[in-house]
Amino acid sequence: MMELGQRHSTIVIGSGFGGSVAASTLVEAGEKVLLIERGPWRDTAPMRKAGVEHRASLPKGLRALTHLLYRIRLPGLPGDGMRFAQRGLFDIHLGREMSVVCSNGVGGGSHVYSAMNLRPQDAQYWDGHVEAISSTAMEAHYDWILNRMGAAVPSIDSKIPNSTSADYRNSPDFIADESVPQPAISMRMDGKIESYRNNSFFGSENGAKATLDQVLLLSAIENGLQLAAEHECLTLWSLGKNGYRLEVFDHRARRRRYLIADRVILAAGTLNTLRLLFRSRAIGALSGMPALGKGFGGNGDSVAWWALNQRGADFSLGVPSHGRFALRDRDSGGALPGPNITRYGFNGVDTLPLPKWLNARLKRDAILVGMGADRADGVARWRRGKLQIRYIKENSSVLADIQEFFVEAARRSGKPVRSLRDFPLTVHPLGGARLGREEKHGVVNEKGEVFGLPGLFIADASALPAAPGAPPSMTISAWARHVAKAITENHNHSQQERDSAQAV
Ligand SMILES: Cc1cc2nc3c(=O)[nH]c(=O)nc-3n(C[C@H](O)[C@H](O)[C@H](O)COP(=O)(O)OP(=O)(O)OC[C@H]3O[C@@H](n4cnc5c(N)ncnc54)[C@H](O)[C@@H]3O)c2cc1C
Repeated sequence: MMELGQRHSTIVIGSGFGGSVAASTLVEAGEKVLLIERGPWRDTAPMRKAGVEHRASLPKGLRALTHLLYRIRLPGLPGDGMRFAQRGLFDIHLGREMSVVCSNGVGGGSHVYSAMNLRPQDAQYWDGHVEAISSTAMEAHYDWILNRMGAAVPSIDSKIPNSTSADYRNSPDFIADESVPQPAISMRMDGKIESYRNNSFFGSENGAKATLDQVLLLSAIENGLQLAAEHECLTLWSLGKNGYRLEVFDHRARRRRYLIADRVILAAGTLNTLRLLFRSRAIGALSGMPALGKGFGGNGDSVAWWALNQRGADFSLGVPSHGRFALRDRDSGGALPGPNITRYGFNGVDTLPLPKWLNARLKRDAILVGMGADRADGVARWRRGKLQIRYIKENSSVLADIQEFFVEAARRSGKPVRSLRDFPLTVHPLGGARLGREEKHGVVNEKGEVFGLPGLFIADASALPAAPGAPPSMTISAWARHVAKAITENHNHSQQERDSAQAV
């Protein structure tokens, strides 16, 4: 069993894009860091090879019954929802105005994500929020993470199954030529069929998809990172000048631990970071944060089932996303302007214990996902010990544009497109503890430090000041890198000051 010790210099909570990037950036600069993650290490080929212990299966075969769902929270359920399995992969929040899907495990969302790695839709995304941050200055962080993730745009010549660029080359209805920019994907694109099967939403057992455990965390551990999996932070207490006390539940040993840290970096993912902050404030362990909960968004996510039932098709093959496409203008042959729409198959369906007929049927259908910069004007609130999200979908025109696209796609294809239009669901939750100039508008300052709570930082999607419109993981990573760099620069600066005082 890992000996954690009680006092730490820095504790990072959560190992998704925010937590892994912040922790590895600090370790790279020589800082001592403990990373705690509530979920387990996943049993994948790279983790087996590295000799990682206590790995938990991905949800495959009958293990789907015990490893698919971590928790579901429903408005009607009392307390903290229904916990299915501590080592389950998906953490689901069902709400009346917004539902959210996220994940549980070392590497966070990178196990379930579709590996589309992009900069924000608006090249000026970072400008105008606070003086000290600009899009130009953040560029180096995007370069760093895109490079580490090995993100590349699939070439049409690589003959990846089901790419929209190839499928719609001669389509009179749809188009995916060079006028529709394709997303960069962090996958092994080596032409081998095993790289194009079962490597998406239910994890990537053979490691073909770049996940954060293999890309960042293993090397950070070699460089001194201490990582405690299956340790969940329950509350966070401010000790004033003495740092923070964390109440942590060790799920493997089934006991509570109390850790103290000079500095805490919260990166438990938008909803779980907000829960921790709200819960800790409600019991008086933290104070302030008048803007907590403001600026919540779903990145315009809209999901639909395209019941193509295309004979002979196996849309489950390919890289996780088949690529973007648009409606073809029947007069000019070019792309009609419209929202950002990506097509997927049920990649990973073979790992689930489904009846044969259903497996075969799912392979003949596709999924459509639209996204775009919504207004991120939702509000997360704490009511009777539960997180509630208020989100008015009519405020964001991008959601209506995507629904219109779905209707037109159904008309043109002659096949139903079924979406949950009255039930917004996002896999890209963001905001609620956002970056701001002052505590009236935001929860964190330009360094990612919470206003009024020195030493407490937020490095995940809850701190984003607006919806990036594009898939957000690279924007979260750029933010986390920025936060960690600001910490190390500050540390170096203070050290220099101490050294010169001693010299005098
Ligand atoms: C199906 C799906 C597909 C997606 N596809 C893409 C895509 O193609 N491209 C893209 O950019 N984005 C994609 N995303 C979104 C992306 O995964 C998220 O935006 C990203 O993971 C969020 O990063 P984060 O650091 O904020 O949180 P997360 O990655 O969610 O990490 C938070 C971590 O904290 C842990 N945690 C939570 N609470 C606690 C606690 N109390 N104590 C300790 N640990 C805790 C969690 O277990 C988790 O590991 C997808 C998401 C899903 C669900």
